Amino acid sequence: MAGSFYLIRCPDCENEQVVFGKASSEVACAVCGHVLARPTGGEADFQGEVEEVVERRSENPEETIEA
Ligand SMILES: [Zn+2]
Repeated sequence: MAGSFYLIRCPDCENEQVVFGKASSEVACAVCGHVLARPTGGEADFQGEVEEVVERRSENPEETIEA
């Protein structure tokens, strides 16, 4: 797999945000700042609920993190 995106629901404010599965830096909720994903060197450690796996597309380019 070349890297997928995940739709993560923030546990604090229920904002849904698309996060790259192999994020190389911490990804914070755009609304409240709660950390949604921590880098591990491989697949990120998600801190919120994974709602959906999103196939690779450039729907939300400003919210994606480069590997
Ligand atoms: Zn939030």
